[in-house]
Amino acid sequence: MNMSNQTSAIQAVHTRLSDAGVSVRTQISLASCTTFRIGGNAALAAYPETAEQVKLVLDVCRESGVPCAVVGNGSNLLCPDEGFDGCVLFTAAMKHIEIAGTTVTAGAGATLASVCCAARDRGLAGMAFAYGIPGTVGGAVFMNAGAYGGEISDCVTDVTCLHTKTGEIVTLDAADCGFGYRTSRFSGNADVPGTSDIILSVRLSLSQGDSDAIRLEMEGISAARREKQPLEFPSAGSAFKRYPGRFTAQLIDEAGLKGYTVGGAQVSEKHAGFIINRGGATERDVITLIDRIRDRIHTQYGIWIEPEIRCFSDCIIL
Ligand SMILES: Cc1cc2nc3c(=O)[nH]c(=O)nc-3n(C[C@H](O)[C@H](O)[C@H](O)COP(=O)(O)OP(=O)(O)OC[C@H]3O[C@@H](n4cnc5c(N)ncnc54)[C@H](O)[C@@H]3O)c2cc1C
Repeated sequence: MNMSNQTSAIQAVHTRLSDAGVSVRTQISLASCTTFRIGGNAALAAYPETAEQVKLVLDVCRESGVPCAVVGNGSNLLCPDEGFDGCVLFTAAMKHIEIAGTTVTAGAGATLASVCCAARDRGLAGMAFAYGIPGTVGGAVFMNAGAYGGEISDCVTDVTCLHTKTGEIVTLDAADCGFGYRTSRFSGNADVPGTSDIILSVRLSLSQGDSDAIRLEMEGISAARREKQPLEFPSAGSAFKRYPGRFTAQLIDEAGLKGYTVGGAQVSEKHAGFIINRGGATERDVITLIDRIRDRIHTQYGIWIEPEIRCFSDCIIL
């Protein structure tokens, strides 16, 4: 599609979605929607509130030949400096949280913080590990987010998602979600490609606990994060996955890479596992830094460490 056709296709998607009552915005800065603060503008952003609206966004984009990407809270993403000439479907408006007994049902766009707090207030234990992970429930299931000895897959009962290829909405039991270390069937792994399905909501099974004890556990985790992680700088969390049996941050530190800088991107001096944006970092700076770290670790230890940060291209489903 040439530039003016693409512009009118995007305009047509904008009109159809807003006429149908879906909240849409134009020329959204990806830098301002992601924790790394890197990336140019997306031509269009849509904020569906329901499964029907998600389906509509997809159908309209498909019919108009406009590419579509799914983004949660943008806390694990490296976005392109040149932006995205398509529509970003943000899940933020699907943020409902319902609690019945020890079961929590959360929309994909509910933040982990809001789910942790809602569970704590009802005296439900099992989610405290996720306090401080700045993502959504959908993003957490996508990559099986985890910390402090827990993973979201420990609590998931089932996941309702939209198959983007067939348009079907299905509910998958946790056992069918292909959870592994920082992977799921949705994200795929080195052997299996991801599914391009959109996670709509997630049911979590928690256990009865004590609100005050849960509050203390969450405060302890928050304090530990503030002490160890460079939360004062933009980042996308741990830059690399753990290598089996090795702490990646320790390897990077031992290789003398703390503080190593490319442009505005730097290996944090506080925590070698984080790449931080010191100001004005570009996508290219981060990719170059990641490549150099991987090369150095390979030369020194003979192993290839894998990035945990995801490229925006992974978000594109159409
Ligand atoms: C300071 C900091 C600390 C962090 N600490 C941790 C940690 O301790 N443990 C940890 O695991 N991670 C951590 N992270 C990384 C990040 O917060 C998690 O990976 C989180 O789960 C990402 O969720 P998100 O909503 O931001 O996803 P995004 O970054 O928006 O998206 C990530 C991927 O998920 C896909 N996706 C998102 N929502 C959906 C959906 N509804 N359906 C289908 N695909 C979807 C996107 O397309 C993309 O490919 C940290 C990040 C930061 C900045």
